[in-house]
Amino acid sequence: MESGFGVKPKSVQDKNRRVVLATIRAMNAITMPELSERLGLSKTTMSKIITKLLEKGFIVSVGKGESSEEGGKRPELFCLNASRSYAIGVHIAPKQINVALSNLSSAIIDKIAHQIQENENLHAVVTIIVNSVQALLKKHNLSSQELIGIAIGAHGITDIEKGTSLFSPHFPSWGENVELKRLIFEALSFETRVVVDNQIRFQVFAEHKSGLAQAYQNVVVIEGGEGLVAGIIVANVIQHGIHQLAGEIGHMPLDPYDTQSCACGSKGCFEVLVSSQRVISRYNEAIKRKKPRTKQILPAPITLRDIFEAAENNDMIACTCLDETAGWFARGIANLILVVDPQIIIFQGIYAEAGTFFMNCLYKHLTNLAIPNVRKDLIVEYSRLGADACLIGATGFLIEDYFKRTELLSD
Ligand SMILES: [Zn+2]
Repeated sequence: MESGFGVKPKSVQDKNRRVVLATIRAMNAITMPELSERLGLSKTTMSKIITKLLEKGFIVSVGKGESSEEGGKRPELFCLNASRSYAIGVHIAPKQINVALSNLSSAIIDKIAHQIQENENLHAVVTIIVNSVQALLKKHNLSSQELIGIAIGAHGITDIEKGTSLFSPHFPSWGENVELKRLIFEALSFETRVVVDNQIRFQVFAEHKSGLAQAYQNVVVIEGGEGLVAGIIVANVIQHGIHQLAGEIGHMPLDPYDTQSCACGSKGCFEVLVSSQRVISRYNEAIKRKKPRTKQILPAPITLRDIFEAAENNDMIACTCLDETAGWFARGIANLILVVDPQIIIFQGIYAEAGTFFMNCLYKHLTNLAIPNVRKDLIVEYSRLGADACLIGATGFLIEDYFKRTELLSD
């Protein structure tokens, strides 16, 4: 049960246990005297807390630390018991489903990847997820009680409260308002917590928790490619919006004169102007216009990665088309800056590989567009989390939430 009913009120004792456990989690290993000194708690109090945390299986002893300056017995070292419980993260990508098992230290210890058909039917997707969860538990000899939950990152508009996929652009056959959480929950042979949210919200969580945004309170993560979406954190809180639309920047109208229709039915949308397909078209049109020497033309079929690489190698046509793309990104980002006022903007997905040339162009355009005191401080970076960002964020989200539970450390 996730509500507060029946949960004991927070006591000083619980609070102290929580602070000690949080400190141990943050350290590789720490001794009791170090904890007492760091947290200003007496040795007697610390000893009782450590005994309780050992009893509850949250920490383990991992050998001996250094003795104090006065000499004496070497104190025992403690660390988080990473194998006490596990979390499962799922990423429903357009053509692949990835399922990962993480221990309590947020380390992904195993992963299963399933290729799926384009617009794969809902029943097949649910079956793949449930079978993968059961396979991971079986392989690692884990019981369902050792699982703290399953967090599912999906594309499109999702409702985390209801656990629904309101609309999924890559799976039109699903229809609208799909109760993904209920379907997974019912298909499992055991009870566990199931969370469904847009993948980008787990990805921004991952940057905030363990990526480039750890030191910041206001963060924007942008993922482009086929679509375009942003994960937004304001004052350390992931933003959803009343209609779960916070971050749907792909449909921000940017060019009133653009003629290409967007999946949303509108024209001039941000995502249409910077999609992989559009950048490739931009490149191919420039080739046709300039009729360059054959050696300058990239071999077909051209990918966005090819264009990034060509721009890094000073291919003028690639440089021009990325400069134009960076210009559209700068317009969209300048609008975002005025709404969210972030300290850092991070590119994930294919654009995290866009390279130095693209980033220089982006800064150049942002300098022209953003108001002076913003452009002075703004940081734009490429993510270093790689393709597992959603899985890292999904499992990390469950783990952080688990340690916040009020009943966890009570007697
Ligand atoms: Zn649109």
